[in-house]
Amino acid sequence: MKKLFGKISEELNKVKILRSLRFRISILILFVGLVCCVGMRFGILRNYLDRAVEVRTSDVQSQMQILADHLISYQYLNESSSDVVNAEIEQVANLYDGRVLVIGRNFSVLKDTYGIASGKIIISEEVIKTFRGEYISHYDDTNKYIEITVPITENVDGKSRIVGCILASVSTVPIDQNVEILSRNSLLFMFMIIIAVLAFAIFLPKVLLRPFNRVSDAISEVKSGFSDEKIEVNDYIETEHIVDSFNQVMERMRTIEESRQEFVSNVSHELKTPLTSVKLLADSLNNQEDVPVEVYKDFMSDIADEIDRENKIINDLLSLVKMDKKSTDALNIEKVDVNALIESVFKRLLPIAQEAKVDLIFESVRQVTADLDEVKFTLALTNLIENGIKYNHEEGYVKVNLDADYQTFTITVSDSGIGIPEEDQKNVFERFYRVDKSHSREIGGTGLGLSITKNAILMHRGSIELKSEPDEGTTFTVKVPISYVEGGAR
Ligand code: ADP
Repeated sequence: MKKLFGKISEELNKVKILRSLRFRISILILFVGLVCCVGMRFGILRNYLDRAVEVRTSDVQSQMQILADHLISYQYLNESSSDVVNAEIEQVANLYDGRVLVIGRNFSVLKDTYGIASGKIIISEEVIKTFRGEYISHYDDTNKYIEITVPITENVDGKSRIVGCILASVSTVPIDQNVEILSRNSLLFMFMIIIAVLAFAIFLPKVLLRPFNRVSDAISEVKSGFSDEKIEVNDYIETEHIVDSFNQVMERMRTIEESRQEFVSNVSHELKTPLTSVKLLADSLNNQEDVPVEVYKDFMSDIADEIDRENKIINDLLSLVKMDKKSTDALNIEKVDVNALIESVFKRLLPIAQEAKVDLIFESVRQVTADLDEVKFTLALTNLIENGIKYNHEEGYVKVNLDADYQTFTITVSDSGIGIPEEDQKNVFERFYRVDKSHSREIGGTGLGLSITKNAILMHRGSIELKSEPDEGTTFTVKVPISYVEGGAR
């Protein structure tokens, strides 16, 4: 059943107009208007009919009661030939356009204004009930009459006794005629209301949805580039929400655009610097005559250094793109022995540590095996340890500590180096950010290392924090889940 409804609504949704909110509100107003109108009309008519039948019944009942009293006082049940009483019975029957039967003892019909049943015996359920003292009234909707019975009660020696009953059926044609007139008038009235409802159904949604049109116009203006302003449509809470969300999206896009432009200009600048040096070196060689071979060699080695640098920047940029945490390249996750991984990084960095006269210390609290992309994680760790060596003093140290609980493993990389000033700490993970540009450049830094590290760790759903004191040293704390859950929350 649910499936069937789902299918029907799917089919309906394919019809374009049915998906229009304006159309739906129109249909709703029309439907509610029509149901109310028709319901009200039938309610009023029904109510009038019930009430009119009730009034007529009690009217006839009291007339019959008066008649019953007259029958007793004229002793009609003993002697039914009284002209006065007969005339009164006829008159009452004519008055209500109906038939009156007077039933005496032994259920014999003493008088029938139609003259059909006179002298006959009537033992119907109603008559028996009336002889027991009940007043009965019954409205026959199909044949349009009301049947009423009234007991004839005689008082003898202070005791009352039912000696007969009057059975009257009166026509309800006059009531029906009134209902008909009322029905005709109300039909006219209903048509007028329906026209009003129709007008409402057409124009109200248009007015109600105007603010939404304004939202869509404003968005179109922004989309087509006419405006860059924040939009404001505060007519409804709903439009306010839509507009707020749209403004937030725009703000986000603006920020992304700004950072993209900044990145492009930084990249261009960084790539231009080695090229400018190469050009300067080449020009100065070209402008000199009879340059000695040693000077040539010297300049050529400088040019080679600059080309190496350019290469390093390009490689780092490529790594960064690959490490973009939104990158579609999936991580190549496998079970990795983290202790062995750290040791292999140490092995590779040992020559530069020795050259810088910096000690490398590895403390492992426990053996850790985790789900990692070995290449990316090695790169992240290499950058941290290499920085510890690069931004250190002679005779300094870089200490790596590995620990884990049942969910996460933690690597801290602490050094005894130059430290990072407080105000720079929040920026060092930004692309191309360097605390001391010339020092970093001197030691072959590109300003991309920490961004690569951070992205690689975020890709593993981990986190990285930094604590540093200038002239005392820096500690990076990396926490990564031991088990990698695809698509899991970070
Ligand atoms: P770079 O290639 O310049 O080293 P990074 O992104 O790796 O770029 O680092 C950004 C900047 O953060 C560095 O230029 C340096 O100023 C600072 N920095 C990074 N690691 C350390 C550290 N261990 N000690 C002191 N300063 C550091």
